[in-house]
Amino acid sequence: MSSRTFKGIAVSPGFAIGKVTIFQHHDEQVMVRHDVDVDDEQYRFKNAIRQALQEMDETILRARQRLSQEDAQIFEAHKLVLEDPEFYDTILNLILVEKINAEAALQNVSQQLVEIFENMENEYFRQRAIDIKDISSRVMKILHGQEVKDSTESLDQFILMAHDLTPSDTLNLDARRVLAFVTETGGRTSHTAIVSKSLGIPAIVGVADLIQSIEMGSQVIVDGNEGKVIVNPSMDEMEEYEQKIRAYQQTLMAQAALKDEPTISSDGLKVEIGANISSLDDLDNALTYGAEGIGLFRTEFLFMNRESAPDEEEQFEVYRTVVSAMKGKPVIIRTLDIGGDKMITYLDLPHESNPFLGYRAIRLTLDRVDLFETQLRAILRASRYGRVKVMYPMISNLTEVRQANAILQNAKQQLIENHIPFNPQLEVGIMIEIPAAAIMADALAKEVDFFSLGTNDLIQYTMACDRLNEKISYLYQPYHPSLLRLIKWVIDAAHTRGKSVGLCGEMAGDPIAIPLLLGMGLDEFSVSPSLILPTRSIIRKLNSISMKELVDQALTLEDEEQVKGIVAKNLSL
Ligand code: PEP
Ligand code: MG
Repeated sequence: MSSRTFKGIAVSPGFAIGKVTIFQHHDEQVMVRHDVDVDDEQYRFKNAIRQALQEMDETILRARQRLSQEDAQIFEAHKLVLEDPEFYDTILNLILVEKINAEAALQNVSQQLVEIFENMENEYFRQRAIDIKDISSRVMKILHGQEVKDSTESLDQFILMAHDLTPSDTLNLDARRVLAFVTETGGRTSHTAIVSKSLGIPAIVGVADLIQSIEMGSQVIVDGNEGKVIVNPSMDEMEEYEQKIRAYQQTLMAQAALKDEPTISSDGLKVEIGANISSLDDLDNALTYGAEGIGLFRTEFLFMNRESAPDEEEQFEVYRTVVSAMKGKPVIIRTLDIGGDKMITYLDLPHESNPFLGYRAIRLTLDRVDLFETQLRAILRASRYGRVKVMYPMISNLTEVRQANAILQNAKQQLIENHIPFNPQLEVGIMIEIPAAAIMADALAKEVDFFSLGTNDLIQYTMACDRLNEKISYLYQPYHPSLLRLIKWVIDAAHTRGKSVGLCGEMAGDPIAIPLLLGMGLDEFSVSPSLILPTRSIIRKLNSISMKELVDQALTLEDEEQVKGIVAKNLSL
């Protein structure tokens, strides 16, 4: 088979060579596979029904205990469909006659039934269409679960490809077995990209038409530095990459020597490199790579992949673990930033047509004071174990800061009344990730102790360019002069008022942006743990005065290409 190369957006560096596993969501249009082993597919289907029936019995039991008799009856009706010999036999027969996979047969039969019920006059029968969809989705989920498991069981490690991966899919996978992630959708700052970067796994997103042209088990090379996927590589390509991997490993080893070194420019300007973390696993990596603090703890990930929100005690234990492990180094805990591409099912949030512009982050927590206060109490309680700072996400205006601070004050009062200790001097900061907040930075700086620039969002809102949409990724321009001017303005506004500024978007670890940010006087660079050492290594080679001059020049340019050009020329990149 001849080799083929696909291009995408490189979002997490590194290389991988291995066999492909394709991941599919249970709610996606399923792929029809022909000429399958009929016995295997029938066996998979029978097994899935057996498992679904078992699950159903448990659900009915729970429903009888917790819900009304009427609600329990809904699940009993679902069980009747699962046990219906006609449903069962029709699907088994379709697998046999068409020689297709179990998923395709299930989808085909369920769709026909749904259509029949939906067209009935009687309301009761029309409702049955919903039951069929529910049941089919349950069995499909089991079949897919088996597929991913079956196809990976024989493989120790594999390259995971998918049309799309949500942050919770990524978290659900056994990361030790994933050599690389490749998806057809997504942008540089999609949370899947961010999660893979913190796991230190190479990743490429936005690879068009990949899944339809690839087979499970194919051999591929993933080049996470250049955004290339080579399917069925030739001998020459294999040799070329084996060399590249050896060279890359040597660079990583040289960087490892910087673990306990300070982050200091060649002319002696000291800055800080913090880590972006979402979990205790990330914390381990942050410590391994010599983080000088936690610049961003994305706490919303603690709320994902579970049935209900963690209570105050559970949150407190996690925050305290992080704070204690950092031994007096700063830990910025960001309050919940749910919404956008980070959804939490049990909160029953309304469906929105523009989730990135909607009910999310601080907007949601100012409305759900129960959630917010619980989290703030947990953060306050952890504050006495080290140097904790709290940070509010997605601030648009001063009123939101004042409202959030009033709730923080309430949380403090509750702790005082219960004689629970905390650090009353806890610093409060905000993310600057909405252009309105960036422009009002001078006023906001009076109200808070620090800023952290959230460029992942600031870029998308400044350019009006969805950060997840690979079709317009050409517009997602971190080095565009409009954005650089905005960042410079924010840093100057904060410094004039004696406040510090960090940057925790992906831009902080970007080799072209780092010289510019250093030249603008950024105080703290917060990056994925795997980028701490590469970022430190770049900064130690730069002269901050020359970078200041470079910034003066960059701010007068007309577009991103020109900015890239002068950075490359000055630093011989
Ligand atoms: C950002 O927007 O830059 C940021 C760090 O927050 P998140 O990526 O979680 O939206
Ligand atoms: Mg953000």
